[in-house]
Amino acid sequence: MNFSDPFGLCPIEKDGVPCKLYVTAYGAAHGASLSALQVSARHGLYDLAQRSGHDLGVNATTNGTHDDPRHNGVSNCCPERDDPNKAGLAVDIGEVDHHVVGTAEASSGVADVQQTGLDTPGVMAVIDPNGYWLAPSQGKPKQVQNDPATVRQHGTHMHVDFW
Ligand SMILES: [Zn+2]
Repeated sequence: MNFSDPFGLCPIEKDGVPCKLYVTAYGAAHGASLSALQVSARHGLYDLAQRSGHDLGVNATTNGTHDDPRHNGVSNCCPERDDPNKAGLAVDIGEVDHHVVGTAEASSGVADVQQTGLDTPGVMAVIDPNGYWLAPSQGKPKQVQNDPATVRQHGTHMHVDFW
């Protein structure tokens, strides 16, 4: 019995139960769709769940307005960064194992997903309540970004960019 994981004993190596990707209630109310992701991002997000050993709840894929054009090709802050080819390469994870990111219940899961993201070559950037990490180019290690304003905007979700 594992009380920390009442929805199944993922990852798959434990007992054949894969970690799940799901759209949160917030995401459902705001039009989030996993099928809107590019294939590389969908695979990367699935890998992040399996390798970290946590179910991941998604608040946003291409829905909503964002500064990062990797959500839907449009940058809310910086129109010069608009690029429709980048749409579907970012997700906002609002829950880890059905706990809201930013709460004490979610903190160890967020730390696991964050570290897995930093170790995963297909992940370009991670921004969460603990900080902001960005790879300067594909295949290079992620580097800590000194950008407290951006970190403050991510108190209740993890933003993950994929190549
Ligand atoms: Zn985001």
